[in-house]
Amino acid sequence: MEPPTESGRFGDFGGRFVPESLVPACLELEQAFNVAWNDPSFRHELDDLLKHYAGRPTPVTECRQLSDQLGIRLLLKREDLNHTGSHKINNVLGQALLAKRMGKRRFIAETGAGQHGVASATAAALLGLECVVYMGEVDVKRQELNVFRMKLLGAEVISVTSGARTLKDAINDALRDWVASVESTYYCIGSVVGPHPYPFMVRQFQRVIGDEARVQCQEYLNGEDPDIVVACVGGGSNAAGTFAGFADARSRLVGVEPSGGAANGKGVAGIVHGMRSNFLQDESGQIEEAHSISAGLDYPGVGPEHAYLAAIGRATYESVNDAEVLLAFQRLCATEGILPALEPAHALAWILRACETGEIPRGSTVMMTLSGRGDKDVAEIMEILN
Ligand SMILES: *Cc1c(COP(=O)(O)O)cnc(C)c1O
Repeated sequence: MEPPTESGRFGDFGGRFVPESLVPACLELEQAFNVAWNDPSFRHELDDLLKHYAGRPTPVTECRQLSDQLGIRLLLKREDLNHTGSHKINNVLGQALLAKRMGKRRFIAETGAGQHGVASATAAALLGLECVVYMGEVDVKRQELNVFRMKLLGAEVISVTSGARTLKDAINDALRDWVASVESTYYCIGSVVGPHPYPFMVRQFQRVIGDEARVQCQEYLNGEDPDIVVACVGGGSNAAGTFAGFADARSRLVGVEPSGGAANGKGVAGIVHGMRSNFLQDESGQIEEAHSISAGLDYPGVGPEHAYLAAIGRATYESVNDAEVLLAFQRLCATEGILPALEPAHALAWILRACETGEIPRGSTVMMTLSGRGDKDVAEIMEILN
């Protein structure tokens, strides 16, 4: 995977479509990121936090029973074992370190289900930054526990009452805050979305997933790469980080979206949140709400690099429904003793289906990123299954 062009384009996608007042902030961020990323002392500091705070490297686990049942070799990249329970910590530690380096004391973030808000509040607490999280009023009510977690971590949670009062409105308000306070404020975006440099920067902070997994898979597979590499796609950060490690391998890359939020599979190109990408839109071009059993996949768009990878055919994007996801969740629990988050259960649901239809031939080697652990979803699943 190549870096984007100077204007942040991945083919026809990406870019920096922001109000004039935000252009200097984006340029300052791009400059600061490029310098930091190429500075061994920044990379050393980040690696140190990833190792001693987040718990990296995360292992790759071979699923013994499930592999036998499916007639394949299934390897899981265990992002569920990170501190705070998902891959999100990789990105927020990178951005919080960058904020400190830029001299910004105020760290703001948007959140939908609350996962990125909690991760941002965690990184801010660790590094002594003031943290403000924008969250739609509807989500604040739905996700009480995460709101309380953020408060325990010292963050202020602002309930957003504009629009549909969900994630896309929280992003708009966070962008507005950033415009008004850019001198002191760093805006930490939670996925590979938004204006340049965010999609590229977040992918670079997440590529530790794919870079580690490439080497770890080769240890299992006698130096070979897996035939297929699979990850779930909300905004697309765990998938982008995974794919980055395998882009020059012969592996087939598959992103899995929820059928009610398949922005890459069923969406239309448009410009939202500072980027040109694929979005769920109605006939008049209004952005539609995404629906999924997993709150973490509810973004109505997808990162521009995924739109590009789909356009050039380097990656394919599949979708699965909630019923398939629930079965996949239960199957991994019962066969491997691992409770996955509902988001990566989407990736597994596609693998189960593709093994059944023969799209994944018997004897294939498959690596899947298990982006997070399922503890956060257990109460919801209990209600559905009981
Ligand atoms: C937030 C989240 C996702 C979706 O975000 P991406 O940017 O698409 O990776 C996936 N899995 C888990 C566990 C999450 O918390």
